[in-house]
Amino acid sequence: MTHLMKAAIVREFKSPLTLERVPIPEPGLGELLVKVMACGVCHTDLHAADGDWPIKPKLPFIPGHEIAGVVVALGVGVKNFATGDAVGVPWLHDACRSCEYCESGWESLCEHQHNTGYSCNGGFAEYVVANAAFAARLPRGVNFASIAPILCAGVTSFKGIKETEVRAGEWIVISGVGGLGHLAIQYAKAMGLHVAAVDITSDKLGLAKRSGADLVVDGRAPDAIPQLLARTSGGAHGALVTATSPDAFSQALSLVRRKGTVCIVGLPPGNFDTPIFDVVLKRLTIRGSIVGTRRDLDEAIAFAAEGKVHADVSTAPLGDINRIFDAMRRGRIEGRIVVQPHADAVQGTGDLYAA
Ligand code: NAD
Ligand code: ZN
Repeated sequence: MTHLMKAAIVREFKSPLTLERVPIPEPGLGELLVKVMACGVCHTDLHAADGDWPIKPKLPFIPGHEIAGVVVALGVGVKNFATGDAVGVPWLHDACRSCEYCESGWESLCEHQHNTGYSCNGGFAEYVVANAAFAARLPRGVNFASIAPILCAGVTSFKGIKETEVRAGEWIVISGVGGLGHLAIQYAKAMGLHVAAVDITSDKLGLAKRSGADLVVDGRAPDAIPQLLARTSGGAHGALVTATSPDAFSQALSLVRRKGTVCIVGLPPGNFDTPIFDVVLKRLTIRGSIVGTRRDLDEAIAFAAEGKVHADVSTAPLGDINRIFDAMRRGRIEGRIVVQPHADAVQGTGDLYAA
């Protein structure tokens, strides 16, 4: 007999997800079956459901890659997990483990990787299959809803900050204070950096302050750039751009001082203006960054487990996913919304999605 589970499925790009009952997947060699206790809704899930990027997921698929849950079954050969263990399932479902990137500890760049909630089914469902070698161990007794955003927003922010090469005592700009950005502010503070946060709405600037930013700037203010340069004595030493509009990327190039690195992790479709003269004369570095390695993920989880970073989460039932996506499109979500597929009897708090 096939057992069924609830799942939110993308059948067509830019269309509402459908809530369906589909067979519970079976874990294969080296895989885990995970009961999804919580799954954060990342803006990447929205890009995936809209088919925003050059490489599109194959339809139909189940998004969701900020998964915290419990191991309920083991595939053949799994030695590092037991049933009942708390486990995190990240974007990096697996990698080949033998290419030049995998061999040098850069499995996040493997060209043969699979991605949870993109090229394989993700956590907007009651169960998900994870690769035991790429799943993360979570602390016993962890709060699933609080830890879920660390599986993508947390690790991506933490790795991105490292990639700016900003040192303790120096200034970093965090541009975009959404799911990633509000955690980035906290990681940066925990790493001893001075933080200037930039977003374009007063709610987000309020969240930035509450997350510990030393300075908040409205990116749309006509004097945003001179204001930030003055308050940081000539510009930040680096910037992390998590924003979802290309304007923020060019703006970040004007917010760093000479020798600064602008690390970009936001993935809106499109291009941004790069003033060649400034990049050359100021010796700027523009660097992309994609999630993090397994090591980065373990480190990012440790910050949360030690209480140094704390995701600002609101929980919702899986059935709310289309309303959550609408709110995300309008930039109306504060922090992160986490869906709980096993708690669908629980009503969502309607005010999360207010106009
Ligand atoms: P989110 O919707 O929670 O937050 C985006 C924030 O950007 C919002 O607060 C919005 O107000 C702000 N913003 C929009 N335009 C801005 C501007 N011009 N200046 C400053 N702020 C602006 O999204 P999220 O879940 O934090 O994801 C952010 C982006 O990062 C998405 O594009 C997502 O796909 C990408 N992402 C990348 C990686 C990676 O590994 N590189 C990982 C996760 C997410
Ligand atoms: Zn993500």
